[in-house]
Amino acid sequence: MKTDLSAEILYKGQYFFTELNNPIDISIPFGRTESPNAFYLGSPKYHAVEAGSFTGDVRRGGSCNCEDITFNPHGSGTHTECAGHITGERIYISKLLKQNFFLARLISVDSNAESITADSLKSVFADNANHAQALILRILPNNESKLQRIYSGTSPMWFDVSAVNYINSLGIDHILTDLPSLDKEDDPDLTAHKTFFGHPEKWNLEKTVTEMVYVPDTVSDGLYFLSLQPASFETDAAPSTPVLYPARLIA
Ligand SMILES: [Zn+2]
Repeated sequence: MKTDLSAEILYKGQYFFTELNNPIDISIPFGRTESPNAFYLGSPKYHAVEAGSFTGDVRRGGSCNCEDITFNPHGSGTHTECAGHITGERIYISKLLKQNFFLARLISVDSNAESITADSLKSVFADNANHAQALILRILPNNESKLQRIYSGTSPMWFDVSAVNYINSLGIDHILTDLPSLDKEDDPDLTAHKTFFGHPEKWNLEKTVTEMVYVPDTVSDGLYFLSLQPASFETDAAPSTPVLYPARLIA
C-alpha cells in the first residue's frame, strides 16, 4: 500500500485508500484549433494582444505571450455550471463551491436509447451505499472522437426527467457527464436542469453540473475521489478541470 503520495481518507464512517500521485484528468480543453462544439456556439479564439509597439507573441518578437481569449463555456470544452444557468437572479460559479473534494461514482451507460432514464441508471447504479456526492456518467461507446465531436444539430442523448429524479433521490449534488448538456438539444424549458436544481420551489444553489468531460476507457467504473475546481469566473458556468483519484474501500 506504500506509494509516493498516498492517503487514507475517512469519509462518512468508511476508510478509503487513494493515491494522490495518480490523478486522472477528465477535462476536454478549450482548444486552439480543435474542440467539440455544441449548440452552434462559436469556437474558442486566441488572439495575441497588439498595442502600440507591443506584440503579445514571443515568436513574433514580443517580450512575452499575452493573449485575449474569446470562448463560450457551454460550447467547446469541459465546463461546470451552477443554478445561475437557469435563474433570473445572477448566481456565479466563482464562489459557489464550499468544498471541492468529493466521493464520486463513475458509471457507464449504453447509447442504445435516445435518452437516459431512471431504469438505465438503476441497472448500473442500484443504490448509493457509499454516499457518493457526485455521479460521473460515461456514454458507451466511448472513444477519443468525443474530444472534437460536433454535437450541434445532432440531437445527442439527454437526461430524462425520471433519471434526474432518481439522481436527486440518491443524494447526488454534482453530476458530470460526457454529453454536451443534461437537456435535450431543443428543449427550451431545460427540464433536466430545472429538475436537478430544484426549480421552482426546492432550489439547491450548491449543486453543480459538469458537461463535456472525457473519461478514457482505461478508467474503470467505480468509486473515485473527485477534485472539482471550476475556474473563477463571475458567470453561470466556467471551464473546469475535474480530476479523479481511484478510491478503494478499506475493509
Ligand atoms: Zn452547459
